[in-house]
Amino acid sequence: MEGKILKFSSLILMAALMASAVVFGRFSSIHSRELKRKQMSGLQMLAYNTKQAQQKEDISLQHQLRVELPAGISLQEVEIENDYVRQNMIIRIPNVEKDYFVNHPLLGRSNHINDLYMENGRIELTMDAVYEPDCKVEDGYLYLDFVKPQEIYEKVVVIDAGHGGGAPGAIKQGIMEKDINLAIVRELKALLDQNDRNIGVYYTRTEDVNPTFVQRAQLGGKAEANLFISVHSNSTVEGEMSQYNGTEVLYDEQKSEEGFSSKRLAQICLEEATAAMGSKSNGVMYGNSIYIIRNCEVPAALIEVGFMTNQEELNKMASAEYQKKAAQGIYNAILRALEEGY
Ligand SMILES: [Zn+2]
Repeated sequence: MEGKILKFSSLILMAALMASAVVFGRFSSIHSRELKRKQMSGLQMLAYNTKQAQQKEDISLQHQLRVELPAGISLQEVEIENDYVRQNMIIRIPNVEKDYFVNHPLLGRSNHINDLYMENGRIELTMDAVYEPDCKVEDGYLYLDFVKPQEIYEKVVVIDAGHGGGAPGAIKQGIMEKDINLAIVRELKALLDQNDRNIGVYYTRTEDVNPTFVQRAQLGGKAEANLFISVHSNSTVEGEMSQYNGTEVLYDEQKSEEGFSSKRLAQICLEEATAAMGSKSNGVMYGNSIYIIRNCEVPAALIEVGFMTNQEELNKMASAEYQKKAAQGIYNAILRALEEGY
């Protein structure tokens, strides 16, 4: 009898031990999973959660990224900022509490995302190229797709206003090169905005900021642009005021796949700009020493509109009227180059 009780109680003990092992084991596996999740980057989490969701629910994701929205949030309340110069896309969702995305994980099979970072209602994506976001909301989910500019536009152009921010370029009599360049590019933008051809235009800057040389140079390739134009204002090497004046355009020898050369683009810019401004032509020049055009992967031209070291030309370039003429010249050059098949 006693032996039986002992046997029976040891059975209970064993059962209790086994049960606790199961519970503890489970707990520790949840714990380690949690730990693993915390150590994962945003991008690893996206891949992990997508794989999990596909295994469990056999969902076939039709879109590149799916974000579960908090109840009652509409597409209008979602903010998407496309910082295409840095290839960053920032999604802001209101009413998102801390750790929301742990319980409502992002899913998607986009292979265009290089990095993903989440903080409260802010999702920051680093893309591998320039894309336009295409989004819709359905059944409480935000679906995002990333579309290449060439899929949206007939032609794609990149415009670079030289210098900016803490890098003023040349300064003559209190006039800064960065301001002249930006004023011309803003006039050019006004013309391009009015153009009814389906041209997608990407600017390295439209404000007084200074993107890096790398960010400027890569934008042409990242947007798969048909052409790239950089706008600068010239000075003599010595920087002294002189009689020397006129417009010149620099290029590197790079050719696009179709064989449209940067030199030809430079020639078109020179002809159109000097015609519109009535400035002296100093010709096109091989400018391999300039980082931006040397490293641009698409046909590129850098226009030096005029000389800030020439008093007459400096006065003109500082005037809105002449800036408009310069913009018109570059605009005409863009249309002509595209007409030629760039
Ligand atoms: Zn410059």
